[in-house]
Amino acid sequence: MTEPLYGTPHPHGPLLGPLSPPLLRSTTAGQPDAEALRAFGAGERSGEFYQRLGHGNGRAFESLVAELEGADGAVAFASGMAAMSAALAAHLRAGDRVLLAEEIYGGTSAFALHDLVRFGVTVDRFSALDLGGLRAALQQPARLVVFESPINPTLRVVDVRAVVALARAAGARTVFDGTFAPPPIQRALDLGVDLVVHSATKFFGGHSDVLAGVVAGRHELLGPIEAYRRRSGAVLAPDPAWLLLRSWPTLALRVQAQQAAALAIAQELHHDLRAGSLQQISYPWLVDHPDHALARAQMQGGGCVVSLTLPGGLPGARAVFDRLQRIARAPSHGGVESLATLPAFTTHAALSPAQRQRAGIADGLLRVSVGLEGVEVLLADLRAALRR
Ligand code: PLP
Repeated sequence: MTEPLYGTPHPHGPLLGPLSPPLLRSTTAGQPDAEALRAFGAGERSGEFYQRLGHGNGRAFESLVAELEGADGAVAFASGMAAMSAALAAHLRAGDRVLLAEEIYGGTSAFALHDLVRFGVTVDRFSALDLGGLRAALQQPARLVVFESPINPTLRVVDVRAVVALARAAGARTVFDGTFAPPPIQRALDLGVDLVVHSATKFFGGHSDVLAGVVAGRHELLGPIEAYRRRSGAVLAPDPAWLLLRSWPTLALRVQAQQAAALAIAQELHHDLRAGSLQQISYPWLVDHPDHALARAQMQGGGCVVSLTLPGGLPGARAVFDRLQRIARAPSHGGVESLATLPAFTTHAALSPAQRQRAGIADGLLRVSVGLEGVEVLLADLRAALRR
């Protein structure tokens, strides 16, 4: 077997040489002879050759992700969407059917509904919260089942093992968007999914300065994805790869601290529910969360996002949002800076108010991604904004 052309887990030895890896920007690399050129060209060798076919900084990042996820390997991309679109495109052909969760990142829906369908793929929707509906949908053959958990922005939790079992029994593979809860919060491959995709723009980068994505899983599924990457060209560049390596040693610390702060904020604000400044708090680690037991069974914590439903619908949420002083009014999540968004204006703006309501997304929903500013600072900001 030829060596994998992407990063694989490797045992950690003693730290030798420069502790910070060199950044290699060279797009091409001199080779000793024609045989080396032949081997690279034939895809038999990985190493420094031509940057789109892989490079040291990218492979180092991939190795870390593979290790973290307990995967055979990982393939890194220029963005989370490049990773997700490659995972889908590499495993689908005209005539195939995909089951796409209604509760999935909007960019993934847009790619499936605008692009996959143009190439003859049928895209059918299902709710990942309705296992009976999924079972019925799987009566017709499907190649892939695509879903996420926890669900953005309601923070409902999907029974990942159950979705995997249904898909597997029907001969379908599962592609899981793990962005919202990466390890150490949740290890999706351990829950049985075939491929886990991350927007590395979020927690893996962690400092709101890198756009990147990555897919991890088994070799048999990664080979076609790497081959698609070299053909389509959306490879992760060395500079963002280097920043991801820089962020890596603090990943677990950041995630744990942000998660602890998110839990503390959710618990504290829970006391305010009775006062009426808030209608609802969704956070999977609160005991009154509808999927709390399930969250406990498949996650190591409730994650770093808290969703608040404010009185007064969209105007009410908008007013609170505009009064925030410390929490940035910005899309994205997973970074050390706390960010707030209004899904009705952003990720779910394309849905009608009735569709949003059916999906459980109140117009007054404010999503807060909790960073590292400290619980006191963030609570004071939220409470001042809620008080009017
Ligand atoms: N998946 C989820 C859950 C996301 O939140 C995002 C981005 O917001 C993506 C995928 C896409 O990632 P990127 O913006 O890095 O392309």
